[in-house]
Amino acid sequence: MEYYQIAIDGPSGSGKSTLAKGVAAKLGILYLDTGAMYRACGLKALKLGISTKDAEAVEKMMKDIKIDITHEDGTQHVMLDGEDVSEEIRMLEVSAAASDVSAIPCVREAMVDLQRKISEGKNVILDGRDIGSKVFPDAKYKFFLIADAEERARRRLAELQAKGVTDTTFEDVLKDIRYRDHQDTTRASSPLVKVEDAVEIDTTHITIDEMIDTVLFRVNED
Ligand code: C5P
Repeated sequence: MEYYQIAIDGPSGSGKSTLAKGVAAKLGILYLDTGAMYRACGLKALKLGISTKDAEAVEKMMKDIKIDITHEDGTQHVMLDGEDVSEEIRMLEVSAAASDVSAIPCVREAMVDLQRKISEGKNVILDGRDIGSKVFPDAKYKFFLIADAEERARRRLAELQAKGVTDTTFEDVLKDIRYRDHQDTTRASSPLVKVEDAVEIDTTHITIDEMIDTVLFRVNED
């Protein structure tokens, strides 16, 4: 049997995870949030007090890191060295740390290997920055999400507030989004880029159901 991958790429807050989760539930396939893996690496560096830009120190850290992804009732859990860090990795400080360490090639190699391994032998929808360009360049379906930076910041702030975070402002989130947009698109190793065969969806003014329908329409065409 041939399995397929659906690649969802785009910048922070463009709606990738909401879309991917919705499509996975409708199609009954696995959803893999690859950003969570880079977040776990960033969190470990923060915990160890390592500079997230120090490639040598991060490389050393990567020799002794254990990241496991588990799924319970369709919800992804991220285990870092045996501890469930699924909630902790969502904090704003971890976003920038994830972006920093994700520019280091050995981090990317380890995470891409893990993503391919988890996806083996199943239909899967993955969201990230390099899914269509690097992880699965032959993915059957590729989508690239975009949205205004301010709208993306509003969404991220709402997510944080829903988790009980009250000391983060809109400006803090917008600054983080701009920092990561710049870093993720300009890094040498697998920068965020829309590949030619990806379908672009501008999510600024559309509903979640409209996004999901756009993807399902393509998949159901086959
Ligand atoms: O998607 P999320 O915001 O959780 O990702 C956190 C960071 O991880 C991103 O800003 C990006 O730097 C990095 N990332 C990546 N490649 C991926 C997924 C995430 O470089 N496939």
